[in-house]
Amino acid sequence: MKMEKEYFLSGKINEECGVFGVFNVEAASQLTYYGLHSLQHRGQEGAGIASANKDMIIRHRGEGLVTEVFTEKKLKTLLGEISIGHVRYSTTGGGGIDNVQPILIRSHKGDFVIAHNGNIVNAEKLKIELESMGSVFQCTSDSEIIGHLIQREEGSFEEKIIKALPKLEGAFSFLIMTTEAIYAIRDKNGLRPLSMAKIGEGYGFSSETSAFEIVGGEFLRGLKPGEMVIVTKEGIKSKNYTLATQNKMCAMEYIYFSRPDSVINSLNVHNSRRMAGKILAREYQVEADIVIGVPDSSLSAAMGYSDFSGLPYEMGLIKNRYVGRTFIKPSQQQRERGVKMKLSAMESVVKGKRVVLIDDSIVRGTTSKLIVKLLKEAGAKEVHMRIASPPIISPCFYGVDTSTYNELISTRLNEKELAKYIEADSVAFLTESNLEEALGENICKACFTEKYPTEIFGLLDKIKKEGKNE
Ligand code: AMP
Ligand code: SF4
Repeated sequence: MKMEKEYFLSGKINEECGVFGVFNVEAASQLTYYGLHSLQHRGQEGAGIASANKDMIIRHRGEGLVTEVFTEKKLKTLLGEISIGHVRYSTTGGGGIDNVQPILIRSHKGDFVIAHNGNIVNAEKLKIELESMGSVFQCTSDSEIIGHLIQREEGSFEEKIIKALPKLEGAFSFLIMTTEAIYAIRDKNGLRPLSMAKIGEGYGFSSETSAFEIVGGEFLRGLKPGEMVIVTKEGIKSKNYTLATQNKMCAMEYIYFSRPDSVINSLNVHNSRRMAGKILAREYQVEADIVIGVPDSSLSAAMGYSDFSGLPYEMGLIKNRYVGRTFIKPSQQQRERGVKMKLSAMESVVKGKRVVLIDDSIVRGTTSKLIVKLLKEAGAKEVHMRIASPPIISPCFYGVDTSTYNELISTRLNEKELAKYIEADSVAFLTESNLEEALGENICKACFTEKYPTEIFGLLDKIKKEGKNE
């Protein structure tokens, strides 16, 4: 859909999703339901679950939240002990049910389903090549490409996947399910997370470790870049489909996207945010009375700021829990209304106070501008904005929607100008090296640096020329 294309960064619609799957567990689809429910923050537009029962794959998908798409009755029809599921990021127009995953690939050699998180940067090229060879695509999502690539290879299913994977460039965590196996795969750059757990006699896979808790899973480890883990009735095995790997976990997973109770590459998300907050306090001190965070993703960093600065950590903003993320609203006006619906300032806390306000990131500046306004209207004497990440200056091509290029406010305004624009008394960001201090060096930070860890097939030049991301 047009709106959707304009809104998304890369013009792709397979953004920021979550995948979950289980093998050899009773009522597999029900566990997948619970797993997806804990990954709901990764995508609210659509959800789908597929299960394998004997020699049949059964699938149900729908638009909306996990609880809206599945009823108990529906889940009971998804029989079997193997299941995978997907939550899809919320978009303006949706893209329709066809793009809701898992994607089902029908094949005379046996059907299979795919759940994908990430974005393939050479999707356009591959799609043109595949179509010229006769492949017919059912949906506009780039996730289907891997299905067609697998179909075209020779050998066992496992061999076919291993031959197909090196053709993909970019970010992907895949769960591929047949009636007999789950194949869990991480891209060779390690851009998107994927972890595995032991669940009773079986196994589980998830975009985030936090989802294992609810299904009684015991976290084993994260998959390695370029690794494929295969579980069948015979057991579990691991293969490297390439050795040309690097470890470039998306920094935004830590900064904004993942749940605080998730562990990514052995680092707990809450702790990483708290550390970022401490560094902010160390680097950008200011005379103030209290520190507050924008709920929820900035609370850990606000605690860290308070730890280091000694300023009291206060609850100056209250979140209405029943409103989705504001970022997903299409127009600027709707987005502004979205922030107001979502947040209220606590007058009794902020009145007459000099406030340090922590947010995890600034994308368009809409949220910050409105929050500063809310706080000042509630009587805050000064508002000093501290951002627990560097300025976002370049688009993401790996599946995180950080706005269209010409909307990224830090491409136009420096800290001083930004402070003026959002009417804050001061603004400061983490630097690139501060970020590495908090998260380690094994991260992708391309949206802060414009230095992409993979080839991006001219996508940046294209959007710079056009001013937007398509
Ligand atoms: P903005 O109002 O456009 O500056 O958006 C900034 C807010 O969006 C921050 O408070 C973040 O918590 C949040 N945010 C940052 N990155 C993303 C993203 N990729 N998707 C959705 N929300 C985001
Ligand atoms: Fe994450 Fe930014 Fe890299 Fe995209 S460009 S993968 S959002 S760090």
